[in-house]
Amino acid sequence: MRVLISGAGGFLGSHLTDLLLSHGHSVVGVDNFITGKPQNIEHLKGHKNYSFIRHDVIEPLKIDGPVDRIYHMASPASPVGYVKHQVATVKVNSQGTWNLLELSLEKKARFLMASTSEAYGDPAINPQREDYWGNVNPIGLRSMYDEPKRFSEACTMAYHRERGADTRIIRIFNTYGPRMDPYDGRVVISFIRQALNNEPLTVFGEGKQTRSLCYCTDLVRGINLVMEGDFIEPINLGNPEEVTILQIAKDVLSLIPESKSKISFHPMPPDDPRVRCPDISRAKQYLGWTPTISRQEGLKKMIEFYRDQLVAK
Ligand code: NAD
Ligand code: UDP
Repeated sequence: MRVLISGAGGFLGSHLTDLLLSHGHSVVGVDNFITGKPQNIEHLKGHKNYSFIRHDVIEPLKIDGPVDRIYHMASPASPVGYVKHQVATVKVNSQGTWNLLELSLEKKARFLMASTSEAYGDPAINPQREDYWGNVNPIGLRSMYDEPKRFSEACTMAYHRERGADTRIIRIFNTYGPRMDPYDGRVVISFIRQALNNEPLTVFGEGKQTRSLCYCTDLVRGINLVMEGDFIEPINLGNPEEVTILQIAKDVLSLIPESKSKISFHPMPPDDPRVRCPDISRAKQYLGWTPTISRQEGLKKMIEFYRDQLVAK
């Protein structure tokens, strides 16, 4: 198949590209590098089945030849990133989604929308099932991300119901691994960077808030299964093992025993969800998907990736 990936120069887009190329597909990557990096796709230069288009998907995309699948992964994804690029985040998850849905109709390609656990906001139920509608502040400091992702889901379903677009929706929960931007403020990469540089690990609040961490290769395997499955409504993808932020800081320190870092506590940012954990029954039932890489194993792999490049930078 010929597959188009928006956000292909980002953390998840680049891992998804690696997976699809390993399956023998041909991949067209699209990115404007607003938060991604050319280094993430450096290793693909010269690959016979890979091509790259530098393009902002807020503008319509013209592409010659057939396209069988469109993965819409483009969007700033960290709280620091989407607050820095508020309007671009709103647009890529509204106009960008719309443009790629139109392209999917033109090419008769199946379209997958990368939505997020942020669609649940600060959830009143835990773990979150897909039929929970969420608790989102429509004007808060995460609203430029949460609300357009919710709009993208609505837009995807409208194209599916009225225009017959062949669509899939995933809600991705916190995912980590190599190629994350060390300075995008997300918790795992921040703690690893800080620990490798003997700087304090910045825990917000008392670190009692929870997240559930999925390793990138587990996640992209799930994304591909959703695309190739026949379930239309949203499917949660994430690791259901819930952990406090303080525990993540301790895990990172125990895996970098030479680090001289200590934990330091800082004020909690506004609208920071207190709990987050996916109910993945739907993914298990319809796709047979479940993550296989433990937190210890995933953190070790990630630390090895960053050990040389991050120290003293
Ligand atoms: P990332 O920032 O590493 O990758 C996103 C990529 O999209 C970047 O390369 C960026 O340059 C590109 N991009 C943004 N706007 C664009 C535009 N208008 N045109 C073309 N390219 C554009 O982030 P990521 O973690 O890889 O996230 C990928 C997707 O997964 C995002 O849609 C994000 O919302 C979603 N997601 C990720 C997580 C996670 O934990 N990583 C969790 C929930 C949802
Ligand atoms: N966090 C933290 N210290 C940091 C970065 C993040 O304590 O240096 C916390 C943050 O307050 C949140 C959790 O870790 O509760 C996850 O943050 P992240 O930015 O990775 O993603 P989120 O799940 O909030 O979108």
